[in-house]
Amino acid sequence: MLKHLAIATLYYLILGSIELLGLYSNIQPAIKAYDVGQGDALVLITEKGEKVLVDGGPSFDLDYKLLSDFPSMDFCPIDVVVLTHPHADHLQGLYRYVLRCSPNYIVFDNAIYDSKLYFDFKNEVERHVMENTSVHLTSNQFKSNLLGIEVLWPPENFDFRRVDNINNVSIVLFYNSKAATPALLLGDLEKDSQSLMLREILFENEGNEIPFNYNRFSGTSSKQSAVLKLAHHGAENGLNRQLFNIFSPSECLISVGEKNSYGHPSSITLKYAENFCEILQTEILGDITLPL
Ligand SMILES: [Zn+2]
Repeated sequence: MLKHLAIATLYYLILGSIELLGLYSNIQPAIKAYDVGQGDALVLITEKGEKVLVDGGPSFDLDYKLLSDFPSMDFCPIDVVVLTHPHADHLQGLYRYVLRCSPNYIVFDNAIYDSKLYFDFKNEVERHVMENTSVHLTSNQFKSNLLGIEVLWPPENFDFRRVDNINNVSIVLFYNSKAATPALLLGDLEKDSQSLMLREILFENEGNEIPFNYNRFSGTSSKQSAVLKLAHHGAENGLNRQLFNIFSPSECLISVGEKNSYGHPSSITLKYAENFCEILQTEILGDITLPL
């Protein structure tokens, strides 16, 4: 009951925060990919100045970086926290931030995944919700476009019990605002699920037929560029050629650790991506900030 009430107030609260943040001028939408070794940790800053943390990397590094990046904001700068999926290389740093800051909105799906870290995280979120310090939203509940962010995956009727590869529950976010460069964040979603996602998007928009040259991704923004956060740290199993062709990114972000023991990023993925975009890798460049 508490959760429903809390969710019902979400839109007002977000609207309130938009108004408040709108008082500050010259906000540059941007995305920052933090170099956290093997893992993902990104902050998306919307055109109104909301800060959305998407995953938190495998350690406490992210929290220290946030503290130095946003020292004047009560040390808790994030408005919305999104956990794409429960793997530790995405969750550990995010859990630390949630413990310390009780962010207003925590977005994740109750995917079935057996790990103590994930169990502890869920318990902690439940406690924050009970104490009325945070609202837990599933990805479907977070599909509001007030922040200019769409959830492209998982779909509404997704059956989490039928997933045997937890990468494929990854929440995919599409920042799609008129005033900014579009950015597509794929989490660790692997290529077959990306194909299903594309089918969902295309069918949803065009009935039963997929027009040959239909490109939803270029529909809103006036900018020519597009940012893609590659799936699964640049692994080959995250390379979906159709998605590249449709989205046509100009900048490709890869969050990955040095001398990666899984072989990320794959040379096949890098070679393919090169045909489209400038490739920006955290293990080479460190923290990467891209204005949108
Ligand atoms: Zn990962």
